[in-house]
Amino acid sequence: MTLFERIIARQIPADILYEDESVVAIRDINPQAPVHLLVVPKRPIPRIGEALPEDQAVLGHLLLKAGEVARSLGLDQTGFRLVINHGRDGGETVPHLHCHLLGGRPLGWPPG
Ligand code: AMP
Repeated sequence: MTLFERIIARQIPADILYEDESVVAIRDINPQAPVHLLVVPKRPIPRIGEALPEDQAVLGHLLLKAGEVARSLGLDQTGFRLVINHGRDGGETVPHLHCHLLGGRPLGWPPG
């Protein structure tokens, strides 16, 4: 089981802000911005570059919900960023696809 599967199964505690049949949004344990959430598909896809055509619906749903969660927190007014890290150079540390939702401060570009 991946770390996020354990969180989804309530085996590991986490602050779950949103949950439906296919995704959850949890608060990142090591926040890099005042708001730092992870939107995670319940059925694990290891990483975005390994997603399959059959994952299309859940990936679309994940982005839609990331936008809705951001809006529910008022971040649509100030702006926010969605990030998906793939592999070593991308900074991936958990091999269960997740979309970072960052906001609450100006975010630099380009990223480090
Ligand atoms: P990534 O580096 O893109 O794979 O992102 C993994 C993220 O998971 C990091 O931002 C971590 O801070 C976060 N993380 C690791 N363990 C936990 C946990 N138990 N609960 C919430 N977030 C976590």
